[in-house]
Amino acid sequence: MSVITRFAPSPTGMLHIGGARTALFNYLFAKRHNGKFLLRIEDTDRARSSDEATAAILEGMDWLGLTPDAPAVMQFDQAARHTEVALDMIARGTAFRCYATPEELQARRDLGEEKRQAAKADGISDDAKAALLAEANALLAPYRSPWRDGAPAPSRDAPYTVRLRAPDGGDRMLEDGVQGRVTIQASELDDMILLRADGTPTYMLAVVVDDHDMGVTHVIRGDDHLRNAFRQIPIYEAMGWDIPKFAHVSLIHGPDGAKLSKRHGALSTLAYREMGYLPEAMKAYLLRLGWSHGDQEIFTEAEATALFDIEGINKAPARLDLEKLGQINSHFIRATDDARLFDLLLPYLESNAPVSDAETVRIRAAMAGLKDRGTTLPELAEAFAFLRDIRPIQMNKKARKSLSEEGLDRLAGLRDELQQLRQWTAETISHVISSYCADHDLSMGQVGQPLRAALTGGLPAPDIAPVLEWLGQDEALGRIEDQTAKARD
Ligand code: GLU
Repeated sequence: MSVITRFAPSPTGMLHIGGARTALFNYLFAKRHNGKFLLRIEDTDRARSSDEATAAILEGMDWLGLTPDAPAVMQFDQAARHTEVALDMIARGTAFRCYATPEELQARRDLGEEKRQAAKADGISDDAKAALLAEANALLAPYRSPWRDGAPAPSRDAPYTVRLRAPDGGDRMLEDGVQGRVTIQASELDDMILLRADGTPTYMLAVVVDDHDMGVTHVIRGDDHLRNAFRQIPIYEAMGWDIPKFAHVSLIHGPDGAKLSKRHGALSTLAYREMGYLPEAMKAYLLRLGWSHGDQEIFTEAEATALFDIEGINKAPARLDLEKLGQINSHFIRATDDARLFDLLLPYLESNAPVSDAETVRIRAAMAGLKDRGTTLPELAEAFAFLRDIRPIQMNKKARKSLSEEGLDRLAGLRDELQQLRQWTAETISHVISSYCADHDLSMGQVGQPLRAALTGGLPAPDIAPVLEWLGQDEALGRIEDQTAKARD
């Protein structure tokens, strides 16, 4: 059997990170088994669904590289097929026409509520109380229609809904891939509506028909759908269809252990793109958010594809941990090749001013040396700020202090030596600086500090020789000259 999974978001908002994780798990499981990963947009709730939300979900999936293996199925477009299945179920005797009106059903619930309240009244006997409660419970129990066994219609043109004939009695058991064995009583299930009085199919019917028609073998989704599985399985049974394997993943919680909500910060997947996280880091983080394999923390996509399994999904809810996401992001930033990293950084570098050609050359030259200087892209972009066209350079207090008369003399001397250099590499530059220090009986700090001040404004830059290399000979000497000339004026 070839594995087919699906992600089935409702287009009522953004792709939140819980949804992205569900999509990722389905994607990886399909890839692991050389199967197919499908996408279904569950847009049957016409009032709440929107094209914008569909576009946002697709954009989020695209950013994460979770490409489905076939064009998305739009659920609303399958309505005729959903209806056809409901009618087929009537023919099989597994569904029926129910003529109860909404008013009757409401009256039934109201009566149940009344009896429940009446049972609480003072001064009634225990027996009377028990009888009232029993009546209330029967009225408020999941609805079993009087038409379930084929009672005739009250009139020829009486409006009706089509309901599933729910399983009669006993236990209903689900072997869930994550939650283990889950059992409920059949009496907890109602004769649920498949077609409304206006003939439109319900969501619960649509999900099952679509999953069947798409050939879905494994349903991996949030555990907020666990109870739905018990309502959906009878539809498969009624149609004699193969039941997919279910795996209900526990929802994501915030760092405080409470269910994830807006107050825990960004919930939208694309917000993480805006904050400067790489898609591969986000994916690696979401993977670990609820799935583990030994104590390995970071997985490339190839590793995840080779290893992902349902057994590794943890039953306990995972907690969002932004510090960990930051660590994983740093890891993937360092692993990103220089050319791509430059492209990723460009929007952040250009947030103030366009990047000139000369700046581009310097930033590209520094890419390998500075890529470990930030957890997110905007933070990293900051580390490149000193390579911009920023002369005369802004200096911090300490830097200014290092440019004393003595400091400037040393800089002037060093500049003369550096000017002679024909080959401008960190190695040759470093050699010149060391010889200069040795010749003038100076420590590295005595030369390095003023040099750093002139070149970077005093940033705690990495080794100074590479900084000169990245700046290039003209810019580096120009920056030194800016300071020494100022002193001469
Ligand atoms: N459309 C449902 C949701 O957005 C998912 C249904 C399912 O996976 O079966 O939560």
